[in-house]
Formats: sequence, structure tokens, C-alpha cells
Amino acid sequence: MLKDTDIKKVIRQHAEIENFFTGGFAVKGQGSAAESAEDVQVAEEKAVELEKLACEIRQCCKCGLGSTRTNAVPGQGNPNARIVFIGEAPGADEDAQGLPFVGRAGKLLDKIIAAMGLKRSEVLIANILKCRPPDNRDPKPDEIISCLPHLRRQLEIIDPEIIVALGAHAAKTLLDTNKPIGQLRGKIHQYCPDPDSPPIKLIATYHPAYLLRSYSPENRRKVWEDMKVVLAELNLPIPEYGKK
Ligand code: SF4
Repeated sequence: MLKDTDIKKVIRQHAEIENFFTGGFAVKGQGSAAESAEDVQVAEEKAVELEKLACEIRQCCKCGLGSTRTNAVPGQGNPNARIVFIGEAPGADEDAQGLPFVGRAGKLLDKIIAAMGLKRSEVLIANILKCRPPDNRDPKPDEIISCLPHLRRQLEIIDPEIIVALGAHAAKTLLDTNKPIGQLRGKIHQYCPDPDSPPIKLIATYHPAYLLRSYSPENRRKVWEDMKVVLAELNLPIPEYGKK
């Protein structure tokens, strides 16, 4: 039988999850964005490099998707971001606008970021593939091989402290594994771009599009738990919940 304290804990956890996905947190400003003059200068230099790379991506035709896309979607966000969210590939809305995560899944990702006490402008959002696969089919191995250097270069420029891999494709690609997302999520991994570069911490979680399809309390709880691991790794406070 549950004790009073256990029941309160369950109620609190449930409320916490609900607030996490409805944007009801009383978010304490914590700012992961760069603020010192030196950081601003570094951010400007990174922004220039990222924009040069984005121009290359917009002209890239290294795989067949270059001829079927409307717009390439290089990525968006803070060049000095401590956290980089990486999804699978652009969908129809992203292809139309040239921006990542702007459809329904993007709106949910925005809520997740806000619930973490952050702004979308403080993180960077990108995908493994920079162009939309027709009919939102899964990325093909040859497309991933062709496109991955773009993402590697982005990560090299940004030099984030942690990567959040959204969904199985991003997690499996970056971790070079075939393990299912259910086994990969919930713990810190190391993304190793190459033997000469320092590894970057990586946590895998469910893709927002999957969450929209399977919007169960259990799945929401798991994503919230994953994001709490991210905040803890960055020594950022976990926002208090409660209606503003
Ligand atoms: S998906 Fe990547 S490799 Fe293929 S055309 Fe687009 S940018 Fe180039």
C-alpha cells in the first residue's frame, strides 16, 4: 500500500509531466546563451562559419534529395548553443519554409524547450538529413552517408556541450548502433565524430512526431526524464512547475 508521501510524489510527478507538455512551468530564467563580450564575438565568428556552410548546403546535390527538395534545411539557432537538438530529416512544413521543426512536431519541441527553462533561440536545432525525403520516407543509408559531413561540420563549429538526438534515426546514426531507441534513451552516451576530436555528450529521446502519435503519459514522462538528465549535465536548474 502506498504511503501518503508516495501518493504525493506520484501526484507531483504527474502534475510535473502535464505542465512539461502544456508549457505551464514557472520558468526561472537561466540563460544558456552567450552574454559576455568575448562570447558574443565567438558567436559572431561561429555564425559566419555556419552561414557559409548553410550556403553550401543550399546548393548541395550530393544525393538524390537535392533534386526533389523545395528548400534545403541547414538548421537554426544559437551558434554558441550549449545544447543541439538533432532530428531525422525535414518534413513538408520544413521543406516549404527552409527551417527545422516548424510543423506540429516543431511546436511540441518548442514546448519541451520552454519547459526546460530555455528559449528556442538559445539552442540549435538541425537534422541528420538537410533535405526532405519524398513522402517523409525514412532516410536511405547512402543519403545519410552523403549528408552527414554537413552535420559533423556544424557540430565542429558550434562545439556544444550536449546533443539531444530526437528519435531512432538520429540516435542510431550518431551512435553508430542498431539498438532500439527504447534502449538508447535515458542515459548519457558519447558522440565521437572522429578519433582526433573530443567526444560530445549525447542523450537520445523520442522524436516529437512519435510523441504526437503516441501521446501517452508514460512516453511524456520518459521524455521529461531525459530532459532532466540534460539539465543536470549542464548544471542548469530544473524549472519548478506550477501555473504562472
Ligand atoms: S540531403 Fe544532404 S547530401 Fe543530400 S542533397 Fe541535401 S544537403 Fe546534399
